[in-house]
Amino acid sequence: MQVTIADVLRARMLLKRYLPPTPMWSYPVLDEVAGARLRVKHENVQPTGAFKVRGGLTLLAGMPADERERGVVTWSTGNHAQSIAYAAQLFGVRCVVVMPEHASEVKVRAVLGYGATVALHGADLTEAREYGGKLADAEGMRPVSPAGDMALLAGVGTAYLEVFSAAPDLDLLVVPVGSGTGAAAACVVAAALAPGCRIVGVQSAASPAGYESWRAGTCLSRPNRTMVDGLATGEGYPLPQSVMRTGLSDFLLVTDEQIDDARRVLAIYAHTLAEGAGAAALAAVLTHPQQFAGRRVGVMCTGGNASAAEIAALAPAGIG
Ligand SMILES: *Cc1c(COP(=O)(O)O)cnc(C)c1O
Repeated sequence: MQVTIADVLRARMLLKRYLPPTPMWSYPVLDEVAGARLRVKHENVQPTGAFKVRGGLTLLAGMPADERERGVVTWSTGNHAQSIAYAAQLFGVRCVVVMPEHASEVKVRAVLGYGATVALHGADLTEAREYGGKLADAEGMRPVSPAGDMALLAGVGTAYLEVFSAAPDLDLLVVPVGSGTGAAAACVVAAALAPGCRIVGVQSAASPAGYESWRAGTCLSRPNRTMVDGLATGEGYPLPQSVMRTGLSDFLLVTDEQIDDARRVLAIYAHTLAEGAGAAALAAVLTHPQQFAGRRVGVMCTGGNASAAEIAALAPAGIG
């Protein structure tokens, strides 16, 4: 099973009525700091604050009427939950989101704000996922896995249609990797529309399962200790890994501290509030200057849902 450029183009048709394209800007002082010619893709301005809403809307828009009737169940600690809840509300579909018991208050509120039901269950996402599966069975609702769904991959791929239409001549495009759905979509779109552009994945060194799975060519589990929400995964996922295996030209690791530095740089030189995952791509550029020097580089700012603690952490330290 493979997602093709035709699936992404179909998703764009579905999404057109619901989401305008997001901007892609360059910032001269940011280019000076990075020593490269950057174009920042601003998915932080999506209505839910992250690119994932493209996937949620595509999934719900394409769901048959009888499935919509029965509702959806998903599990997530963050942006995926908001994406599905937002889309379910738009299409009038009942939605239950299972979140781990310690889930952040702000995120629970955001999901409730979109009219979804929140079930707090389990110590972590694995337990929440088990419970979500059981709930889906018991209630006859459609389970929506954050990483395994072709519609999600096709939907998030529409961001890359916009990237290559705004910047057709990129040498490199840097994409943060959690499950790898977004990066896999970037690979599919680049192969069709910008074969000369190299796609580079980025992960936190504190949660390197996707990176190590890619290096090994097989899905692995690894410790999951990053503080960066969208990047906090402990395993490689088969569907996105199968696409990234040939589609990514490189995969870089950055530390959580380097991600924080990149958030400060974005705040000061690109007047952009990014969450950690939204600054990881820039962090990779800033910490591997020799790979990007003088090149035209697309930088995915995937999300802006910074927690109160992340916003407070912007203030003290010096900047690059
Ligand atoms: C989910 C997420 C990511 C990682 O995306 P995947 O498709 O899971 O690899 C990156 N940034 C943000 C803001 C996210 O919400």
